[in-house]
Amino acid sequence: MPGIRKISPGIGAGVREPAGIEPFADILVRHGLSLVRDRVHTLQVNTGYLCNLRCRHCHLEAGPGREEIMSRETMATIISFARRFPFQVIDVTGGAPELVPDLPFLVEGLAPFAPRLMLRTNLSALSGAARESLLALCVAHRVVLVASFPSTNPSQADAQRGAGVTETAIAVLKKLNAAGYGVEGTGLELDLVSNPVGAFLPDSQESAERKFRTDLLRKWGVAFNHLHTFANVPLGRYRTWLLRTGNYERYVNTLVEAFNPSAVEGLMCRTLLSVSWDGFLYDCDFNLAVGRPNGDRKVHVSDVRELPSPGAPIAIGEYCYACTAGSGFT
Ligand code: SF4
Repeated sequence: MPGIRKISPGIGAGVREPAGIEPFADILVRHGLSLVRDRVHTLQVNTGYLCNLRCRHCHLEAGPGREEIMSRETMATIISFARRFPFQVIDVTGGAPELVPDLPFLVEGLAPFAPRLMLRTNLSALSGAARESLLALCVAHRVVLVASFPSTNPSQADAQRGAGVTETAIAVLKKLNAAGYGVEGTGLELDLVSNPVGAFLPDSQESAERKFRTDLLRKWGVAFNHLHTFANVPLGRYRTWLLRTGNYERYVNTLVEAFNPSAVEGLMCRTLLSVSWDGFLYDCDFNLAVGRPNGDRKVHVSDVRELPSPGAPIAIGEYCYACTAGSGFT
């Protein structure tokens, strides 16, 4: 194809750049940019890879068969870490955090130390009577719920997530609205995250948010606060799907061609630390997925005496192009 560079897709879980594209470090230099740390204000806590779904776009290859989940002991060290360092935001993610047995212990323990405590949900893992007490806990602690909801077209969304998943997700969204989430004046924030359902970049956030707000209200009477759109990162199961469908090369080239130098300053890895299910620190969830720890050395939260200083390096790779495409992954 004219204008398309040949890419070797052999990166696996390693750190090697695919041959044929400009290394991410080089494109930064060419634009006179560097990607280094700023002051850390956000802690992302990855509770593990267990999930009830097996989404096509998952960079962690989470799923029902995964056994890596956060223990209560690791949760206690993270709560102690959050007590020692003043994070403005704590963002609890997975896998599906709802499936981790001691999640309530983590939420209750972190709540006093996070002005903004966020819990990611795929919605379907929040369904059923067994999650009622978790929802009540979230309401009590004003936890911000961030729900993945890829498309307002059920057949497209089910193609990414599994048959019938959208119907369950809508039922849960209705339940969240009934509990006050996403409803004006309650202070209970419900945000949605949409990832493209194929090998293309997302629509602009503003237009996607307008469309989701209209569609969700018209089709199902559902309200929410904000929508975030993110490009899929070519790692894990999404990378496998791109390769199997012959889309890998074209997709990575699309990301490279959409490189937006002005997105670099606001990248989340400048101000965030990600902690894995077993308690080790990474610059972001994508570096966690490829096993590249913060500072190139595995450090457990219980051993941290100070946060990375402004100017400290960040581990980068070709997957960073997904964060700088268009308006960026901030
Ligand atoms: S993948 Fe994104 S968030 Fe992670 S280091 Fe690269 S640019 Fe930063």
